[in-house]
This record gives sequence, structure tokens and C-alpha cells, in this order.
Amino acid sequence: MLRFDGKVAIITGAGHGLGRSHALLLAERGAHVLVNDLGGALDGTGASTGPAAEVVELITKNGGQAVANTDNVATPEGAKAIVRSAVDAFGKVDIVVNNAGILRDKSFGKMTVEEFDTVLAVHVRGSYLVSQAAYPYLKEQGYGRIVNTSSPAGLFGNFGQANYSTAKMGLVGLTKTLAIEGARSGIKANAIAPIAWTRMTEALLPAEFEAKFTAERVSALVAFLTHESCEVTGEVFSVGGGKVARVFVAEGPGWKTDDLSPETIAANWDSIMAEQPYVLSAADSMKAML
Ligand code: NAD
Repeated sequence: MLRFDGKVAIITGAGHGLGRSHALLLAERGAHVLVNDLGGALDGTGASTGPAAEVVELITKNGGQAVANTDNVATPEGAKAIVRSAVDAFGKVDIVVNNAGILRDKSFGKMTVEEFDTVLAVHVRGSYLVSQAAYPYLKEQGYGRIVNTSSPAGLFGNFGQANYSTAKMGLVGLTKTLAIEGARSGIKANAIAPIAWTRMTEALLPAEFEAKFTAERVSALVAFLTHESCEVTGEVFSVGGGKVARVFVAEGPGWKTDDLSPETIAANWDSIMAEQPYVLSAADSMKAML
């Protein structure tokens, strides 16, 4: 059994849905958990101390250790306060699960700058800010596990979610760079692209998904990726309904010439679109170009 005794985990947006489930699982397996949640509505408006406090109460009742925090991940002061709460309560930080999220869906032509910016602020800025506030502690101890929460909507696009999908693909870039920069300090960073029945999706998913697409089936992967035995880093995984799969950004073999023009591109389109054999890194992509 993968245990988390002696480890301290920060889980953002842990008052509901996926974050709540991650917090319960890690606490049940021995982690000390900082349960962060602003307690607002699905669109990010409002705030309440209730959801974070309820999850802490449940963990404590089950014999675990947790503290509640209701700061906003999207502000530098909020992110610092979240990390400070964990360190004040438990003396350190080992694990950061950036999970807090909101929706402001709107078709592209109608989306306002405010709707675009607010969604990016919670998902991208929030993940960056909380990870960065924890980073000195992780570096200093030469150990850390970070999981960012992407989405199939970001990896593949989704109608009405230009803001959300931009944010969720942004988190893939953040994860990959964090994995590269954190490598020499024992910090592993990965991203998940989940599907689960929560207040965020209950109006969108077919009713039969409720029983199968449980939050617990996503938390299992989060526990695997945040455990000290996990050597995986810089990867993205889709997870939902009991299935886990690696998702990767790949570059096909392409077509190369000394005579590149709009016309030769058009004439060689099939080769440009070919998928095999592919390369998986910027270094291998550069090598192939040379
Ligand atoms: P949820 O609404 O149940 O949980 C999100 C939590 O984040 C809420 O409790 C909310 O209060 C909190 N939160 C929002 N803004 C915050 C802020 N600024 N600071 C602190 N807390 C904040 O939704 P969920 O489905 O559990 O989503 C969790 C994460 O998973 C989100 O990042 C979401 O985008 C992502 N995701 C979910 C699904 C799915 O199928 N449920 C799919 C893809 C991605």
C-alpha cells in the first residue's frame, strides 16, 4: 500500500469534487493535508469558509490530520498564505496538488476579456503562484511532488471553452518546464486531464456517468503521482471511469526540402501530416530539422 506518513500535502480547491476526494485519500493514507478552498460558486463568484472546514472535519473525524484555508489561489498574497498555513501547521510542504478551478463558458465570439482573464487567473496563475510559493521549501529539502490539473478540453479543445482550454493547455507547458527545472532538486511535476462527476460536470455528462466516473477514480492516479516512489515527471495523463492513459505532444516525421514555398508545402501536404515515426521532445525535433 502506498502510504504518505510524514508527508505534507497542499490541495487547492479541496472543498468539493476532485480536490475533496484527493484530500480524503491522501489523509487516509497518512498525509497531513492543507485543505484550501475559497468556497465560491462554479463561476468563481462568492466565498465561504464552509467547504474547506467540512472536509477538515471529515478528515479529523476519520483520525487524519488536516487544516483548512480559504485563501484565493489566484493572488500572490493568497498563494503565499496557503503555503504559510501548511508550514505553520505541519512544518513543511512535500506535495502540491493544483486543483482549484472555475468555469465561465461562452462561445468564442461572445466571450469577454473579463471571462477570459478570470478563468486563466484561477487555473494558470493560481497553479503558478501556489507552486512558486512552495518551491523554496521543495528545493531546500531536495524533494517535491506537484500535480497540475489540466483537462481534455485543453488538450483537444471544446466548444464554448476558449478561456478554459487555453488555461488547461497552459498548464501542460507549466508542468513540463517545472519538471525540467525541478529535476535537479528531486521535484517531479505531472499533469492530469480528468473526467469525473462533480458539480462542474453534472449538468454536462450523461446521468449514467455518475456511478462510473467517480472522483475517487481520479484520486488514485493523484496518489500514485504524488507518492515518493513515483519517478515519473513531465507527463500528462487522462484519467476517468477507471481508465488511465498517457497523453503526449508529439511531432511527426514531416517533410524537409531546400525549396520550401507555399506551393511545395501544398504538394507535400500528406507527408507534412504524417504521424509516424514521431519525436517527443524539443531536442529531438531540432535534431530532425538539422
Ligand atoms: P468543483 O467545482 O467541484 O471543485 C473546484 C473547487 O475549486 C471548488 O471547491 C471551488 O470552490 C475551488 N476554487 C475555485 N476557485 C478557487 C480559488 N480562486 N481559490 C481556491 N479555491 C478555488 O470542480 P471539480 O470538477 O472538482 O474540478 C477540480 C479541477 O479539475 C478543476 O481544475 C477542473 O477544471 C478540473 N477538471 C475537472 C473535470 C471534471 O470532469 N470534473 C474535467 C477536467 C478538469
